[in-house]
Amino acid sequence: MGGFFGAALKRDCVEDVFFGTDYHSHLGTRRGGMAFYSPENGFQRGIHSIENSPFRTKFEKELAGMSGNIGIGCISDTDPQPILLRSKLGRIAVCNIGIINNAEELCNEFYDSRLASFETMTSSKVNSSAIIGALIAQKDSFAEGIRYAQERVEGTMSLLILTEDGIIAARDKFGRLPIVIGESEDGYCVSFESFAFQKLGYKTRRELLPAEIVRITADKIEVLGEGNPDALRICTFLWTYYGYPNSVYEGVTVETMRTRNGEIMAEYDIQNGTLPDVDYVCGVPDSGVPHAIGYANRSGIPFARPFIKYTPTWPRSFMPQSQEMRNKVAKMKLIPVHELIEGKKLLFVDDSIVRGTQMRETVEFLYENGAKEVHMRSACPPIMFGCKYLNFSRSTSELDLIARRIIHEYEGEEGVKYIREYSDSKTERGKRLRDEICRRLKLTSLEFQFLDGTVKAVGLPECKLCTYCWSGKQD
Ligand code: SF4
Repeated sequence: MGGFFGAALKRDCVEDVFFGTDYHSHLGTRRGGMAFYSPENGFQRGIHSIENSPFRTKFEKELAGMSGNIGIGCISDTDPQPILLRSKLGRIAVCNIGIINNAEELCNEFYDSRLASFETMTSSKVNSSAIIGALIAQKDSFAEGIRYAQERVEGTMSLLILTEDGIIAARDKFGRLPIVIGESEDGYCVSFESFAFQKLGYKTRRELLPAEIVRITADKIEVLGEGNPDALRICTFLWTYYGYPNSVYEGVTVETMRTRNGEIMAEYDIQNGTLPDVDYVCGVPDSGVPHAIGYANRSGIPFARPFIKYTPTWPRSFMPQSQEMRNKVAKMKLIPVHELIEGKKLLFVDDSIVRGTQMRETVEFLYENGAKEVHMRSACPPIMFGCKYLNFSRSTSELDLIARRIIHEYEGEEGVKYIREYSDSKTERGKRLRDEICRRLKLTSLEFQFLDGTVKAVGLPECKLCTYCWSGKQD
C-alpha cells in the first residue's frame, strides 16, 4: 500500500506537504519522499527509508533547504518515490499508489519497441512510477497519456504528477483507492486521507471520481479528463481494517462504519440467541476497537481494554526483516491489564481473521493469564483470497489463509467451488468452517460478520464496493 499528498498554494507549501504526507505514515513502511518545484530552484526531491524511523524524523533537517509553491509527497511500501522524469511533456515528478500486475509485460513491450529502457532497483524490478511515466509520454498531452496508462495498467493506479505549473492528480479507473481535494484561502491540496489536511487549515472540496484527471493550481481545479461514477469499486477493507479512523471515503467515515459494523454483529447475536454471557467486550487494538465499541453499545455488555498497545518506542514503521521477529514485536506491543483478564469471560472483536497465528497466540496468552472464556467476533467474513487489486497483502499464498487451508483439507482442489458457501456461516459448509476455526484457535465461541452486514455498515450499494477478498467476485 501507500499514500500521497500534494499542495498548490499562493505561498510556500513545503511545510504543508511535509505534515500532509506524514499523516499517511500508517499506509506504508518502506520509503517516504517529497518533491517540490520553484522557478528559482527548479525541482528538488528527497527520498528516505522509513523502515526503522518515522518519516518526520528523516525530513526534518532537509526542510529548510526545500522551497516551492507546488509539491507532492508519498509514503510507499514498495518503490522509492516520487521519481523525477524528463520527456517531451516536460520535467515532472511522479508518484503512484496501487499495483501494476502487468509491469513485466509493459516493460518488455518498451524493450521490444526500443522506446524506453529503465533503471532497475536493487530488487531488479523497475520503479512503477517510471513505467507509468513512460506510458504517459507515449501521447501528446498529460490527459491523453494518463488515459492511455489507465487503459494499459492492469491492477490499480492512482497518481500525482508535479509539473512546473501545477499538480495533476488521477484516480484509479475503478476508484479502488480514494483521492480527495482540500481547499483553503491559499489554494488547494490533494490527498489519499481526508483527515490529513484538516489540521493544516483546509476543508474538503470534493473527492475525485473513478478515472477522473484534474490539474490543480493555487487558483483553480481544472478537469482534464471526466470521471466515471458507475465504475466505482472502492476497497471495502479501507473501512474494515486499514483506513485511518477519522478518514472519510465516499462520504462514509471509517470510525462510524466500524462502530455500526459492531452494532450489526451484536444485533445478529441477539436475534440468533448467540450473545454470550461475558464480563467484557474488548477490541483487538487498533482497528478491532471501534468494532468492539459498537458491539458493546448494542449488546449492553461493558467495554474494557484488557490489552493496551505500547506505541511510543514501537512506531508502526519498525518492520524487522524476519517474520519471527515481527511476531515478537507484535506481541511485545500488546501489554495486558491483569485485573481485566483473570477470572473473566471475555469477548474480543478483531478486524479480520487472516492466518490465525497471532490470534491463537493471543488466545493462549489470555488463558495462561487466567481468562475463563475467550469468545471472538470477526468484523468481516473469512478472508478467502489474497488482494490482487492493491499492493496490500497479508499472505503470500492463499493456503496461508486459515479458511482456505481448512477448505483445502476438507475438499482438496475442488474446494474453490464451494468458497461462497464456506464464506456464509448460515450454510452447513460455513458452519463447519466456523466451528473448525473456533476449535483450532481454542475459542469458546466464534462468529464472523456476514458480507451483507459489512456492506450494510458501509452503507454504499454492494455494486460500488470491491469485496473480492471475501467473495472472489471480480469486476
Ligand atoms: S481484494 Fe480486498 S483488499 Fe483488495 S481491493 Fe478488494 S476489498 Fe480491498
